[in-house]
Amino acid sequence: MTMAEVRGRVGPAVHLVGVIGSPVAHSLSPVLHNAAFAAMGLGDAWRSDAFEVSPGRAAAALDAMRAAAVTGLSVTMPHKSDVARLVDECNETARRLGAVNCVQARADGSLFGTNTDGAGFVASLVRGAGFAPRGRRCVVVGAGGAARAVILALAEAGAAHVAVVNRTPERAVGAADLARPVGEAVRAGGPELEATVEGADLVVNATPLGMAGTTAADGGEWLVRPGLLHQGQVAVDLVYAPRPTPWLVAARTAGATTLDGLGMLVHQAAAQLALWTGSEPPVEAMWQAAAIASPPAG
Ligand code: NAP
Repeated sequence: MTMAEVRGRVGPAVHLVGVIGSPVAHSLSPVLHNAAFAAMGLGDAWRSDAFEVSPGRAAAALDAMRAAAVTGLSVTMPHKSDVARLVDECNETARRLGAVNCVQARADGSLFGTNTDGAGFVASLVRGAGFAPRGRRCVVVGAGGAARAVILALAEAGAAHVAVVNRTPERAVGAADLARPVGEAVRAGGPELEATVEGADLVVNATPLGMAGTTAADGGEWLVRPGLLHQGQVAVDLVYAPRPTPWLVAARTAGATTLDGLGMLVHQAAAQLALWTGSEPPVEAMWQAAAIASPPAG
C-alpha cells in the first residue's frame, strides 16, 4: 500500500510512521516499531508500515510523506544519501555522513533528517557485549554507508584508534577521515593489517559478505581472516541474516566474543522512535520482537 492508501485506511487521528527502501518487504522495522507501540500502550494510536520506493524516487516519497501527514520515516537502502540532500535540515551526524536513516516531520511542515545507525551500533555493543569504545583500539572492515556510521560513532565515543580496511582502498581513506585524528586507513593483505587486527579490542565486519542470498558467485573474500582473532577481542558482524554469519562462527571458534547485527538494528530503531514519540522506547520489547522475527540459526 502507498502512504496515501494507509492514511485513508487508518483515518486522520492515527500517527503513521514507516520505512522506505527497495526492496523493503522483508524489513523488520515495522515489526520493531509496532512491537514498541504495543508495549507503550500506543497500539491504537500509532502504526508503522513498509513502503516500497524505487531507486531515484526518494523525492516523491517525501512528497507523499507530507501529503499523507506521516510523522516519521525510517530510511534504508538505496535512499539514505538522496534523503540527506532532500530534507529541509539535517543534524550534524547525518550531515557529516551525507546519509539520513530517519526523517521526522516537524509541526511547521519541514522535514528533519538524522542518522541513528552509529548510536545504535554503540548501544548494541554496550548491551550485547558489555563493550565501551572509550580508549579501545578498533578495526572496521568496509567503507560504505554502515561502516562510515560505525567509524564516526566509534571516534565520537572516544576510541583510541579506528583502523579502516576496504576492498577499494581509496574509499577507506575517506571513511577513516571521519574518525580524525584517531582514524587510519590500512591496506588489505599486508603485515600491517595483521598486526593491527591482532592488537585490536574490537573488529567489525561492515560488508555484506556472508549475508543470506549472496553466493560464491558474488565474489569477495574476508579481508580480515578470522584466524587472526583471539580471546579477549569482540567481533561484530553488522549482517543479521543469517545469525550468525560464517565469519562470526569462525571468529567465535578463534576465541573472540561475538555479536551479530540484530542489536544495532534494534537500537537504531529505538533511537528513531524516541525522536518521533518523545518518549523512552521499550528496548527490551523490541529485542524480543526482533529475536522472534529473526531467530538465531540452530
Ligand atoms: P554499502 O554502502 O553498499 O557498502 C558495502 C561495503 O562492503 C563497501 O565497503 C564495499 O567495498 C564492501 N563490499 C561489498 N561487497 C564486497 C565483497 N564481495 N568483498 C569485499 N568487500 C565488499 O552497504 P552498507 O549500507 O554499508 O551495508 C553493509 C552491510 O551492513 C550490509 O550487509 C547491511 O545489511 C549491513 N547493515 C546492517 C545494519 C544493522 O542495523 N545491523 C545497518 C546498516 C547496514 P567497496 O567500497 O570496495 O565496494
